[in-house]
Order: sequence, then C-alpha cells, then structure tokens
Amino acid sequence: MKFEKLTRRHFMAFAAGSSVALAIGKASSHESNFNNSPFSKILHQHDPGQRDPIRDKSNPDLIYPPCTDNGTLPNLRFSFSDAHIRHSTGGWTRQITQRELGVASTIAGVNMRLNKGGIRELHWHKESEWAYMLYGKARITALDSNGYWFIDDVDVGDLWYFPSGIPHSIQGLDPDGCEFLLAFDDGKFDEDSTFLLSDWFKHIPIEVLAKNFRITVDVFKNLPSPEKEYIFAGKIPDNSISSVLSMRGKKSKLIFSHKMLKQKPFSMPGGKVRITDSSIFYISKNIAAALVEVQPHAMRELHWHPNTDEWQYYLEGEGRMGVFASSGQARTFNFRAGDVGYIPFAMGHYIENTSNKTLRFLELFKSEYYADISLNQWLANTPSYLVSQHLHLENSFMNSLQIEKQPVVKK
Ligand code: MN
Ligand code: MN
Repeated sequence: MKFEKLTRRHFMAFAAGSSVALAIGKASSHESNFNNSPFSKILHQHDPGQRDPIRDKSNPDLIYPPCTDNGTLPNLRFSFSDAHIRHSTGGWTRQITQRELGVASTIAGVNMRLNKGGIRELHWHKESEWAYMLYGKARITALDSNGYWFIDDVDVGDLWYFPSGIPHSIQGLDPDGCEFLLAFDDGKFDEDSTFLLSDWFKHIPIEVLAKNFRITVDVFKNLPSPEKEYIFAGKIPDNSISSVLSMRGKKSKLIFSHKMLKQKPFSMPGGKVRITDSSIFYISKNIAAALVEVQPHAMRELHWHPNTDEWQYYLEGEGRMGVFASSGQARTFNFRAGDVGYIPFAMGHYIENTSNKTLRFLELFKSEYYADISLNQWLANTPSYLVSQHLHLENSFMNSLQIEKQPVVKK
C-alpha cells in the first residue's frame, strides 16, 4: 500500500536525521559532519536546490512531516535566536510578539538580561507582566494601588506578577546579574511602549515638576535622556534586603512573587508537572502556568485546553509538537531551548521529547486558572460500549484507558 510505504520511508528518514543530529551535537566540525550525513544525502536527493543545512537539521518534522500531517496551519513556532536584540549599558532585551509570531494574539514574550547592577528602569504598562527567572538573581520592587511598597529578591525558578498599571523595577544582583522570561497578557504588547519614569520627567515642563514636588526648578536642569535609561548600568544594592525593609511607608499585603520550582511537583513515570495559577499565586489573575518536565522519549500526553490559547517557552532539551486543528488539519513542529510555541484555543496536541536529555518547557495561558482535557481520561470516563463503537479498536485498547490523568506518559 502506498500509504504504508510512505510512512516507513518517512520514519526512516526522520530516525536517521535524529541520530545524526545527536551525534552532531557533540562533534566540533558539525557542519561538515552534517553535509556527509545520511540525512543530508536524503535531503539533497529531495531538494537539490538551495538549502540552509543548519535549519534543515532543526526541522526534521517540517521537511519530512509525519504522513498524518495535512492541510495548512499557521506557523506555531518562533525562536528568540531570530529576534532583534536591543543592547543597553545594563543588559539587553528581545521580544516575540504578534509581530514576530502572527498567531500569538493572547500573550507576548520578552527575554531580558540584566548585568550585575543593571537596572530595568522604574516603569509601568497597560498589560499585566508575568515572569520566570531563568538565571542568576534579581531584586524587584513595586508599589500597590494603596500606596504600599513591595520588594523581594528572586532566584532561578521564581516568578513575579505585576498587574496592569502597577509600577515596578528589576535589578540584576551579585554575582552575575540575571536573565528572565516575561509574558504579557496581550500579543500586541511592545516593550518600546512602556511608561518610563525618565520619559515622563523629560516631557513635563520643569515648572510643573517643581510645583508637583514642591521644590525649586534648578533641581530638574540635568535630567537624563530616556534613550540612555530603559536598561542602564547601576550600583549593586547593599546585599541584605533587610536594610531596605526598614523603609518608610507600609509594606504591601500583596505578594507579587512566587517560588514555582519550590512547589512539590506532580510526578509520574516519564516526567513531572508543576501548576501555578491564581489558586496558589493569588495575584496572578491573568496568567496561569504549568512547568512540564518530560524524560527522554516520554511525551506530554494528547490533550487540549478548554479555556484559551497556549503560549510556550522551551527551557531545555528538544522535542516535537503535533497539533490537530479539526477539519482534517494537522502539523508537526520541532522545538529546542529558546523557542516559543503557540497552540490556538481548543486544538488537540502532544509534545514528545525526541532527544536523550530532559525536555523542560513552560505552558502559559491568559487565564486565572489552569485547565486541560486529557484524551485518555475522557475516553476512560465515557461508557465503554459507546467508545468501542467509534474507533473499532480491540478490548486491549479499552482496558488500557486511564481513569486518572497522566499529563506525561512513557511507554
Ligand atoms: Mn514591566
Ligand atoms: Mn497543552
């Protein structure tokens, strides 16, 4: 049968590609190895014209799609490596918004590095800001709408959340600053359109400033250029936070940070899942998150989300995601650390670890709660006489169904 033949050929091509890709990861002259690899030779026969071998190697499931893929789906992946970096004296920043990844209407992402002492200037914005610390240490500050202050030091795996309009700052601490991922609850967000302290000061007549702060106009004669602020090199604060805690004013009763990695994970054969939404991180009313760890060759099971779109960030490892869009449409995308993925509302999907290392990624939702529907659990909790008449599968399938949800599965 033609269909079967295609399946096997495609599978073999993919398998060859995968093992070669793994070997290449360790080799020093990886491009020449790749050009001599079986995967490259198969590619050359198929596509003798212009090719980018580095990109081809990262996209086996686009180049040799599983034969179950069909129809047109929008692009569901964008890499931070393809995003413009804005460099400053105190660090750098880059963003993946709806402008980069057209389908991503609900959430926009920013990846930011603050050097030791580097300050993301005091600012606010219309969108709510959710963050995951990727590296190092940072100090965050905010003011709530009662006029009470918040300050905390955050570490790898910690979150923060600033509701829309709440003013805040971030600073990289000893010994090497920090790097973090930000998610904003609007795909059209632009990090260039935040409300900056220096920008406002520069656009108020100094007589008005003098009146507002009840001080002389001379004080405001040397205001810095907002271009130079945004992210700027600053002085490392006194290392102890306790000295700051004796500040005047009142400490906010709201908690803007959360230790996600310290949460006890839901563990199962093949992986772990941590879920953080407003049921435990009360302030995070507009972003719900799951941190998923998938062991080599295990898989985030077939499922979908009944509330909204999913925005993903890949923290570690490699995998592939298959998405089913109804009407016979399905497509498979390959992912690696630093990629952003997106799944439009209600589309069925799985994420399979395709490497021999742990795959870790974040699932984010513009929602106050996390929710998913497991295909397996659905069928297990539907009368078996009904299910068995649908798929023409043997009793062994009916017996394999799991009443309890297993977000990650391993054969
Ligand atoms: Mn912000
Ligand atoms: Mn999902």
